[in-house]
Amino acid sequence: MGSDTVWREICSKLGYKQASATRTRGAKPWRTVYVANLCAECVREGNIVLNLSGGSIETSQFVSLCSSCFGKVHRKPMQHRTADLLARVKAKHGTLFQFKLYNLIPEPK
Ligand SMILES: [Zn+2]
Repeated sequence: MGSDTVWREICSKLGYKQASATRTRGAKPWRTVYVANLCAECVREGNIVLNLSGGSIETSQFVSLCSSCFGKVHRKPMQHRTADLLARVKAKHGTLFQFKLYNLIPEPK
């Protein structure tokens, strides 16, 4: 019990769910679930979830973006996705992380 109960209630109101199917095994603190559901760039409510590792759910790292930040990247072809796109993501998580996201977001048709 404690503060995680508060985060669980917030997550429940917003419809955020644990990524893991089981309730006990692999369950993450609800605060972590909440943060994972915020846009990694602008910290508004995220609504697009990207699976960074592409592995099984337990070992996966999920990142959320809001549709606005996702769209900024999506509108640009790969060679125009430079360091100023998702600058906050880069500052917080590094260039490799930033490029992982670029690679997960489809290019415009
Ligand atoms: Zn955003």
